Amino acid sequence: MLADSDRIFQNLYGMRDRSLAGARARGCWDGTAEIIARGQDAIVEEVKASGLRGRGGAGFPTGLKWSFMPKEVKDRPHYLVVNADESEPGTCKDREIMRHDPHTLIEGCLIASFAMRANACYIYLRGEYVREKEALQVAIDECYDAGLLGKNAADSGWDFDLYLHHGAGAYICGEETALIESLEGKKGMPRLKPPFPAGVGLYGCPSTVNNVESIAVAPTILRRGAEWFKGFGRDNNAGTKIFAISGHVERPCVVEEAMSITLRELLDAHCGGVRGGWDNLKAVIPGGSSVPLLPKDLCDDAIMDFDWLRDQKSGLGTAAVIVMDQSTDVIKAIWRLSKFYKHESCGQCTPCREGTGWMMRVMDRLVTGDAEPEEIDMLLDVTKQVEGHTICALGDAAAWPIQGLIRHFRNEIEDRIKAKRTGKVSAIAAE
Ligand code: SF4
Repeated sequence: MLADSDRIFQNLYGMRDRSLAGARARGCWDGTAEIIARGQDAIVEEVKASGLRGRGGAGFPTGLKWSFMPKEVKDRPHYLVVNADESEPGTCKDREIMRHDPHTLIEGCLIASFAMRANACYIYLRGEYVREKEALQVAIDECYDAGLLGKNAADSGWDFDLYLHHGAGAYICGEETALIESLEGKKGMPRLKPPFPAGVGLYGCPSTVNNVESIAVAPTILRRGAEWFKGFGRDNNAGTKIFAISGHVERPCVVEEAMSITLRELLDAHCGGVRGGWDNLKAVIPGGSSVPLLPKDLCDDAIMDFDWLRDQKSGLGTAAVIVMDQSTDVIKAIWRLSKFYKHESCGQCTPCREGTGWMMRVMDRLVTGDAEPEEIDMLLDVTKQVEGHTICALGDAAAWPIQGLIRHFRNEIEDRIKAKRTGKVSAIAAE
């Protein structure tokens, strides 16, 4: 288990003082000016060397992303945009950072913005996060009063302003270009890429969009060194990671652990295990609602990192672990996600707009067994026609859970269809 002294987030549960004084006592804002004095390139290289991969879902190397920003500021200013939209069902990790340990994020915003030659940063906050907005704004105000933000921020010689923008609560605004559109005051609809935000981002200027956790871990990496961070997890899957575990465990929780921990250890050590014992496990969604589920036999040896889960045709995503025990109607659980994605589609591209509705309507009938067996393959075919054929990843996110269901629980779907035909209602879900 990860030692407390190796936890980057020392106040994840809000048990300690979350004010600036409390954060300073825990090591935040310690030597920030010295870190900045190392220079932009040194900071980017250190973050690259740490092996940090983006914590928002895609797992793209953070240092590499920073290095895509132009090396000189020309006619257009640079911006850092922090994606605090956290709307993926099951995901509630950034919330804990923002409400209990906000200074990790604010210090990270300054350092990361400096590294990308940005004098301004916007945090785009999920509309439903009202208390988080309050806590974060209090912390930002404290930093301005203490000279940690504003002109010559933290005595670093870098002028830096940090703005908090409260969204209106649309899932799609968590997609980076939709987020930028929304920040600009337009409807939150994803842009076609290229151009990528590092070339043409917020207000047409070079911008980088990073997840809250990716930015909040940066100061500690730079203080303790890339080698320290790399010491956790497997090759290419470095560092510590916040996991959010919900569903059928004894004690759902949010916890920072070493990357590449086994699923079983994660659940046993921090959540009191699966409700009714490990053998009562049916399936786990390992990385937020958009990744395909894993059935129990794969969960037995599951390693919680990007590469292992990708090899199983699933993903670490946001590391939001949704645990389902044997009492779960897994078809209905995935149907619920289909309904969510249909609702959240922005409607801009046809495969997603039409496909999410199609998929949901077939799923409606699979839940009750009111379908033909051939429709299972038809549904799979539709998911393949949506996947990879849309402007943004919402199309994939809608397709993948259904693909996982059919891959691992086809028998259950077929049994339900048969049961409906033969009138054996015990196999049919409670409606
Ligand atoms: Fe909008 Fe869906 Fe197309 Fe994304 S994939 S742009 S959400 S219609």
